[in-house]
Amino acid sequence: VAKRSAGTDFVVYEPGMGDTTVSRKDTTAELAAAIRNGELTTVYQPLINVSTGRPIGAEALVRWQHPVDGMRPPDQFIALAEESGLITEIGKLVLNDACRQAARWVSEAPAVNDLLVTVNLSARQVGDDEIVDQVREALEASGLEPFRLVLEITETVLMHDRDAAAATLWQLKGLGVRIAIDDFGTGYSSLAYLRRFPIDMLKVAREFVDGLGRDAHDDVITRAIVELASTLGLLTVAEGIETTQQQEHVSALGCDLAQGYLFSRPIDAEAVRALVGEQDWPQPKPALRAV
Ligand code: C2E
Ligand code: MG
Ligand code: MG
Ligand code: MG
Repeated sequence: VAKRSAGTDFVVYEPGMGDTTVSRKDTTAELAAAIRNGELTTVYQPLINVSTGRPIGAEALVRWQHPVDGMRPPDQFIALAEESGLITEIGKLVLNDACRQAARWVSEAPAVNDLLVTVNLSARQVGDDEIVDQVREALEASGLEPFRLVLEITETVLMHDRDAAAATLWQLKGLGVRIAIDDFGTGYSSLAYLRRFPIDMLKVAREFVDGLGRDAHDDVITRAIVELASTLGLLTVAEGIETTQQQEHVSALGCDLAQGYLFSRPIDAEAVRALVGEQDWPQPKPALRAV
């Protein structure tokens, strides 16, 4: 942290901000303005049913369309949004958009019974009682059936303030939504929380999927996660599938769902609607164009 000539204003070097030097105060104000100006949008990365190859929904991912700098990825502003509390506002935007879009996908693809949308929740959101009302309101406003909404949290969230997190997750569960653990295997590897918290889905972290077929260690970990999930009756998602070799491995291991650049980059909601609404699907599927 370096000090600016002005005196009270600190210049902070944030990982992910690249080599630009930005004052935290300025950036927070800029992010608040961006929210007001509608610069935050949501993109969706398709989730593929591994055994059929069919896209059955998507993960909602926030983007900041900056008028000068262009697209800013979440790594550049989520941490700041957490610290400043703006994540509450951002989370609400993403939740409402995801529920509204998924309700449209359902109405146009009634044949896809297992259609779902996943939304990331950060630690601060789970620590905030307001999240339960936000989720309830997003479901009511959109008419989306609760089981189609999957809330993604990380292991860190569970270990942070366990009692508060447990209470919130059980309340969310009471609404009928499902809970996923994102980047599973990268956090504190205590398995006790899989019984203590109402978990429905494990997302195998990209770092393990990465080495499938090349790194015996990654094969063993991924296999163990999928077996654990299957024993506990949880769905599994393999994240970050980039090669057909990785796809074949997760398929052989019995992973339920997959996402990654091999299938599609994050795309806009309309493109997901077209994709899930397709009646027949060519096998293998062509990789989609990024937005
Ligand atoms: P995540 O939830 O684990 O999301 C997956 C990230 O991996 C996304 O990056 C996605 O674009 C990227 N990805 C997907 N497939 C591949 C692949 O095959 N190869 C590689 N290299 N990457 C792949 P993105 O969109 O930049 O998001 C980064 C992180 O920011 C997310 O990780 C999540 O933790 C956070 N985030 C994104 N949107 C939100 C949001 O609405 N709320 C909160 N609280 N966090 C969010
Ligand atoms: Mg996620
Ligand atoms: Mg993830
Ligand atoms: Mg993550």
